Amino acid sequence: MNKELGRLNHGEEVRMKLSNRLAKIPPYLFVELDRLKQEKLKERADVIDLGIGDPDIPTPQEIVEVAKKALENPEYHRYPANPGSLFYRRACAEYMKKRFGIDFDPEEEVLALIGSKEGIAHFPIAFVNPGDVVLCPDPAYPVYHLGTIFTDGEPYYLPLTWEKEFLPDLTKVTEEILRRTKILWLNYPNNPTGAVATKEFFKEVIELAKKYDFIIAHDAAYVELYYEDPPLSIFEVEGAKEVAIEFHSLSKTFCMTGWRIGFAVGKRELVQGLAKVKSNIDSGVFTALQSAGAYALSNFETLVPPLRKIFAERRDYLTQELSKIGFEFKKPKATFYLWVKVPKPYTSTEFCKKLLQELAIVVTPGEGFGSAGEGYFRIALTTGVKRLKEAIRRLSTLKL
Ligand SMILES: *Cc1c(COP(=O)(O)O)cnc(C)c1O
Repeated sequence: MNKELGRLNHGEEVRMKLSNRLAKIPPYLFVELDRLKQEKLKERADVIDLGIGDPDIPTPQEIVEVAKKALENPEYHRYPANPGSLFYRRACAEYMKKRFGIDFDPEEEVLALIGSKEGIAHFPIAFVNPGDVVLCPDPAYPVYHLGTIFTDGEPYYLPLTWEKEFLPDLTKVTEEILRRTKILWLNYPNNPTGAVATKEFFKEVIELAKKYDFIIAHDAAYVELYYEDPPLSIFEVEGAKEVAIEFHSLSKTFCMTGWRIGFAVGKRELVQGLAKVKSNIDSGVFTALQSAGAYALSNFETLVPPLRKIFAERRDYLTQELSKIGFEFKKPKATFYLWVKVPKPYTSTEFCKKLLQELAIVVTPGEGFGSAGEGYFRIALTTGVKRLKEAIRRLSTLKL
C-alpha cells in the first residue's frame, strides 16, 4: 500500500519529482552547443572560446599577497560577521564615496555578498510575494528572472532594442502591470549588449518607481570596466536613495571571479531586508577574502586602469576588424562584451553552431539571454589579442 502511494504519478517516484518552482525554470539552451564544443575538443581542434564572461587575466598579485597574509590570521578562521566585517563595509562605503561621491552608512546601508549573483538571486525573497510582478530586461543575465521564479513572482520582460540604445522602454508597460510591479531590475553597463545608461534614463525610472511604489534593483557588475566616460551609479541621480539598491561585484573589476565577493548598497530598508534573508541562509564571506576585497576596493584607482587597458586593446582591435569583415554592432562603451547582429538568414543558435562547426570558434547565441536576444550573438573579450587575431583570420574565411 505504501509502496503504491509512492508511485501514483504514472509509475514515477513522486519523491523524485522536481518542485513546481524548479520545473518552471526553462531548459538550459546551450546543451547542444556544449556538446558540439566537447566534440570539437575531442577531435583536438584548436577551439577559440569567446563564449564565457570570465576574464583570462589573473587577479593582481598585490591582492593575492594581502589574502595570503590574511589566511594566517587565526581570528579569520572563525565564522565571519554575517553582514560582512565592518572594515570591509567601510572600504565599500569609501569606494562609493570616492568613485561616485555618495555617502553610505557602512553599518546599515552596506552588505557583503558572496559574489553579486548570490545577492541578486536572494533579493526577491525579501520583497516579492507570489503574483507580484518583477520587471526583467530581455536580453539579460538570467538571475533576475530566475530569482523571481524562486519566489513565485511573475517576471515581465522588457525588451532591450538596438533602436532604443538597449535601454528598456517603460512607456510600453501598461498601468495595470506597473501597479503590480514590486521590483525593476536594471543592469548598466549592460551584459550582454555593452550599453551604458544615461542620467536622464535613471531619472525617468526613479520617478516611475516613486509613482508606482516599486523598488529599483541595479546590477552594477561592470561599472569599472569602461572605455569612455566612467559609467554612473544610480545613486548619482537624485531620489535614488529612496527607491534603490545597487549590486557591486569585485569579480569583473579586479579579475576575481573565483573569489566570490561583492556587496550591496542602497536604501537602508532594502539592504536590511536582504541582510535578513541572508542571515538565515549563509554565514557570510570568509573574512580573509574580505580583507583582500577591502584592499582591492581601497586601491581601485591604481589596480583597475592596467586591467581596463588590456580589455580596451582587445575591444579596439576586434571592433575594427569585425567592421572590416562586415559585422554590425554598436561599439561598446563598457563591459568586455560585443553584441553583434547575426548575418541573414541564420537564427542566433544556427549561426553559433556554424561558427563552432566550421571555424572552431565559440560565441554565445543571443537567444540564450532571452527571446529579445534572437538576432544577435555575444563575443566575450576574455582572450588575448593573439587569439583574437586568429579568430579574425578564421572569420574572414566564413562563407554565409
Ligand atoms: C558576472 C556578472 C555578475 C556576477 O558577478 P559575481 O559577483 O561574480 O557573482 C552579475 N551580473 C552580471 C550582469 C554579470 O555579468
